[in-house]
Formats: sequence, structure tokens, C-alpha cells
Amino acid sequence: MSRKFRVLINSTYCKACELCVAVCPKSVLAVGRSTTSKGIHCAETVAPDSCIGCKACSDICPEAAIEIRVEGDGQDRK
Ligand code: SF4
Ligand code: SF4
Repeated sequence: MSRKFRVLINSTYCKACELCVAVCPKSVLAVGRSTTSKGIHCAETVAPDSCIGCKACSDICPEAAIEIRVEGDGQDRK
């Protein structure tokens, strides 16, 4: 049975550099449409069910704003 992953993006830390959007092999992430209180377009998940848990996004994020969790077992993959 394939595992499902959950992508958590902390908009407090996100600087909207878009590195995570560029690196994701499954197009899970995109530049957000809404503006945060800091006036930036934080990354958001647009296809969360497509995530394969590769952690490329969390590894490249310079602000450590992304956390990948395995759905159901309460454990993350950090
Ligand atoms: S890589 Fe990190 S800081 Fe850059 S857009 Fe993605 S979540 Fe935001
Ligand atoms: S863990 Fe991999 S597939 Fe999932 S959002 Fe990040 S880069 Fe995309």
C-alpha cells in the first residue's frame, strides 16, 4: 500500500523564493494566490495527493519552512 504524504508550509518563514516550486517533480507546489501579512505570495500546495515524499522541497528551502509528514502514523520524514 502506498503511503500518503502531507506537505506543511509555514507562511511565517516562507520568503516566496519559489525554489520549492521549481524543484518539486510532481508539481505539488505553486506560488500562492493570496498575500500574507508580510505582503508576499507564500508557496502553497495545489496537488497535495501527488506528493511522493521525496523531500526535495524541504531540503532546498532556505528558510526551513517546509515539513513533510507521513499521513496517518504521526511521523515526519525529517
Ligand atoms: S523554498 Fe521555502 S521560502 Fe522558498 S517559496 Fe518554498 S517554502 Fe517559501
Ligand atoms: S516532498 Fe517531493 S513530491 Fe512532495 S511536495 Fe516536496 S518536492 Fe514535491
